[in-house]
Amino acid sequence: MEKKMKMKRVLITGGAGFLGSHLSDKFIGKGWEVIAMDNLSTGSLANVEHLLGHDRFHFVKQDVTEFIHVPGELDLVLHFASPASPIDYLEMPIQTLKVGSLGTHKALGVAKDKGARFLLASTSEVYGDPLIHPQKEDYWGNVNPVGMRGVYDEAKRFAEAITMAYNRYHGVETRIVRIFNTYGSRMRLNDGRALPAFMGQALRGEDITVFGDGSQTRSFTYVDDLVEGIYRLAMSDECEPVNIGNPQEVSILDFAKEIVELTGSESKIVFKDLPSDDPKVRQPNIDKAKQTLGWEPKVKRKDGLAKTLAYFKDAVYRNNQLELRIAG
Ligand code: UDP
Repeated sequence: MEKKMKMKRVLITGGAGFLGSHLSDKFIGKGWEVIAMDNLSTGSLANVEHLLGHDRFHFVKQDVTEFIHVPGELDLVLHFASPASPIDYLEMPIQTLKVGSLGTHKALGVAKDKGARFLLASTSEVYGDPLIHPQKEDYWGNVNPVGMRGVYDEAKRFAEAITMAYNRYHGVETRIVRIFNTYGSRMRLNDGRALPAFMGQALRGEDITVFGDGSQTRSFTYVDDLVEGIYRLAMSDECEPVNIGNPQEVSILDFAKEIVELTGSESKIVFKDLPSDDPKVRQPNIDKAKQTLGWEPKVKRKDGLAKTLAYFKDAVYRNNQLELRIAG
């Protein structure tokens, strides 16, 4: 008789968020049982609606800063709960600090209790407004702790520190991914990030709001590439932080122009004040991911943006319908 393979179970905090929901898809696709936990403050059930009837998918509505109880065994905990856009953490500064600190502590506690591996979603924001370019994992960063972004940056820096402490002191198997700007379906239309803002504005024929003179740069990763990198890191032996991002760098002004062109919009670009501490440059050095995970991004920005446009067309349409209904 064929030997039955042991079921693998993963807890994904922030499982109904942009990245958490794509990770849920990935692990379901790999045959895992997925427990997605989310307090739905920035996540949405619409992101996992297609998984709700699946017998290996479970959704638990919970704030991970409170005690987490998960019945049964766990092999892996992916800690992805956190507001993650500048507007979100400006609106929810205390929650952002709490989920990065208390939430990471609780998620690590579950991993320790279950003997599960733990993977922390960290961020390129730990490098702050970087003085080293491109950013390598051994760069310690240039972060303003008391600025508006400090609540996110310092929470994630604390999260990395407590993750390493659980690794060293409690022997928990830990992984840390430093995620660079990522885009794709299920981003919120109004989360204030550059891509949803520009696509939404272009599709509605509104002015495109570029902050500052648009010379600041970012490097955008398509969500499928990111999720593959995270999966490989989770399965690897690497416990030090690893950058996962697409090194293809672009100025925000050029990025806005690309979106105007792609959408065929007549929107014009206007310039607004640059938010404080907005990093001037950002580009990952991904040598480590290439060497240790055999990973590098595959999706070119042109192709990723075209795929993402289909999602945003639908999102803008639904939003318009909603506004019409509210207006009566
Ligand atoms: N940005 C912009 N217009 C917008 C939203 C964002 O010019 O409507 C800029 C923002 O100032 C930053 C870049 O786009 O320089 C990327 O912003 P995002 O919020 O997407 O990510 P982060 O700043 O966290 O990298």
